[in-house]
Amino acid sequence: MRVVIGGGSGFVGRELTRLLKSKGHEITLISRQPGPGKITWADVESGGLPPCEGAVNVAGENIMNPLRWWNESYKKDLVSSRVNTTRILAQAIAASPTPPHSWVLVTGVACYKPSLQTQYTEESEWTPFDFLSHLVKEWEAAGQLPENSAKKTRQVIIRPGAVLGRDGGAMKQMLIPFWLGLGGTLGSGRQPFPWIHVSDLAGIIAHALEPKEEPSTEPDVFNGVVPALNTNFEFTKDLGRTLKRPTIFPVPGFFLDVFFGSERAVILTQGQKVVPKKTLESGFEFQYPDLTSALKEIVGY
Ligand code: NDP
Repeated sequence: MRVVIGGGSGFVGRELTRLLKSKGHEITLISRQPGPGKITWADVESGGLPPCEGAVNVAGENIMNPLRWWNESYKKDLVSSRVNTTRILAQAIAASPTPPHSWVLVTGVACYKPSLQTQYTEESEWTPFDFLSHLVKEWEAAGQLPENSAKKTRQVIIRPGAVLGRDGGAMKQMLIPFWLGLGGTLGSGRQPFPWIHVSDLAGIIAHALEPKEEPSTEPDVFNGVVPALNTNFEFTKDLGRTLKRPTIFPVPGFFLDVFFGSERAVILTQGQKVVPKKTLESGFEFQYPDLTSALKEIVGY
């Protein structure tokens, strides 16, 4: 199958590309920069979608970039890098004379309101309540195909929690402080920590690219999180154990609010109990369903 991946040069996209290539699929990346095996977003806007059977969007400005101050310009980039790229792909799919059979959009669990009690599945009702949940709403709406296109192309939305892997995401920023023995719980540590290993997220995306006989006009939604409900405390202690390092320095919530901006620090200081009900019902099997196996793979022992 030929698959076009928006933002495929990033952390998740690289893992997905490796997986799909290992299965014999042909990949074209959509990027801001031209290059070998790549086309640009401007190419898609002007020339349409290249012939393909699957399309995926994993583009987006990094939300946890510690070098970017939380301000209106950063927030605008976070929104436009996700919503505009998603809209370009959805419009190109709808306009294609030979549309792909699957269209997979990767968003996030920020749509679910953080809570220590409520448990969310893909079927949970949600209404936007803060900047990040409004972003998810706008992002997912931008990916929606018109009804006549939706009959030909299966639409899938995957909402991952924190994506754990060696080459990017949160782990890349955390490994050095934890190695130095400076790691600790964030805020109270009691907050849920929904997560997934990057190989499993790539696996769910690949699974979602499979054709469906009669696609529904509404997207299939899959939560990209492991079924185990972990807290930040459990994650911190497991990472410390795996690295054989102490984790005795909790990071106070007010420090994270000041450093990251409180609207963004909620990703670290609060969390959602999310379960992958539909993901499991679809037959997907997690390779790394628990923290210990995932962290051992990431750390290398
Ligand atoms: P990356 O930070 O690795 O970025 C992915 C790609 O997005 C980049 O390689 C880049 O491609 C493109 N990109 C970056 N900034 C912009 C911009 N301003 N405008 C247009 N394109 C841009 O992301 P991940 O792979 O970690 O995440 C993939 C998706 O999954 C993102 O949408 C993210 O929000 C979501 N997600 C990720 C989580 C995580 O823990 N990593 C958790 C939950 C959701 P290029 O340079 O080729 O243009």
